[in-house]
Amino acid sequence: MGETLRRARVCILGATGSIGRQALDVCAKHAARLEVVGLAAGCAVDELTRDARAFGVRDLALADDSPDARARMEALGEGCACEFGANAVAELAERVAADIVVVAIVGAAAIAPTLAALKTGARVALANKECLVAAGSLVAAAASPGQLIPVDSEHSAIFQCLQAGHPSELRHIWLTCSGGPFRGYSREALAKVSAEDALRHPTWSMGPKITIDSADLMNKGLEVIEATWLFNVDARRVKVLIHPQSLVHSMVEFEDGATIAQLGAPDMRGAIQYAMSYPERWEAPAPAPDWREKGPLTFDAPDLETFRCLALAMEAAHVGGTMPAAMNAANEMANAAFRAGRIRMTEIDEVVEVVMDATSPATVESLEQILEVDARARRAAEACVEELAR
Ligand code: NAD
Ligand code: MG
Repeated sequence: MGETLRRARVCILGATGSIGRQALDVCAKHAARLEVVGLAAGCAVDELTRDARAFGVRDLALADDSPDARARMEALGEGCACEFGANAVAELAERVAADIVVVAIVGAAAIAPTLAALKTGARVALANKECLVAAGSLVAAAASPGQLIPVDSEHSAIFQCLQAGHPSELRHIWLTCSGGPFRGYSREALAKVSAEDALRHPTWSMGPKITIDSADLMNKGLEVIEATWLFNVDARRVKVLIHPQSLVHSMVEFEDGATIAQLGAPDMRGAIQYAMSYPERWEAPAPAPDWREKGPLTFDAPDLETFRCLALAMEAAHVGGTMPAAMNAANEMANAAFRAGRIRMTEIDEVVEVVMDATSPATVESLEQILEVDARARRAAEACVEELAR
């Protein structure tokens, strides 16, 4: 009796976003086990300092190092020690000697912070998928066995299902997909949807970029590539399965045909918590469904003619090398252009395709090379958006 376990020191990168906020929820619920010691964000000083006060966190990092951001931090961050700039975000995990780093930054901006977090030896609870799409081989090489735990709900499910067999016995991954708000739409109908239509996602409440990725199915394409790196499988073994109820979070098929599924409420806190509690299971963050009220569950194949983004991402996965990095960067630009009302939803895949056609893929060698491919693809995508928006 009386023995107190040391609490795990948690650092959250991208703390003010959808995943970051839910990670803080999990930390609040399990405050006896988890202590928040570091928080980082892009430019949201108000939210960051509010969370710092609520959780008693001193050490902060802000990617934005403009004079305005520094002035706002000076005004709002009393008692906080904040460092500014992209390097400060990447170095925060080391600065606070974290045991667990939650990477909830959006986009390729997470590549360097993820590599830096892995280097500290901390567990990395990875929500960000773009870093695996763009720099999967570098991230996989930097991770020691068991260090990188997925937060993306499908990949958390796959991670859990894989515990039923040996990795060498894996035949297929069945990656489930809600189909998004435009499931069943024709190409013509998809061309007419607005960013506001797309931002009303049926099941999950997510950040704006992934909400659009989920509507045009690029998110599922990114997730195919994410799975190849997390589970060391060829993209041909990853099969996308439309499942509108979003209750089966994904499935794993073994050599003997046995197929193991993980089911649960569509609530990201389950996956976020498991990435921190693994290999333990803690009290649920949300009530479990009553399955008597949940049937029927349905499954279907994706429509690759309408949802070209998914087809293009799968092609990038097959090509490999630096192609997924170029594809990802083009998508980040096109996704933002659609949200800004500059291009149509169906022009997102046009931009991605133009950039992929202009890319000569090379073997991935270094972070510098990936960042260069990323920058070049962004310039090409912006030129393409300008053309389309004219
Ligand atoms: P979001 O837009 O809600 O939040 C993004 C966070 O990243 C914010 O805190 C923002 O301040 C921060 N940020 C942005 N640029 C930064 C930078 N350069 N340095 C440091 N911080 C920066 O996004 P989200 O929906 O929480 O998604 C985050 C990641 O998790 C994405 O990669 C997404 O694909 C993935 N993901 C999200 C969900 C979900 O339900 N939201 C589910 C699965 C995976
Ligand atoms: Mg997902």
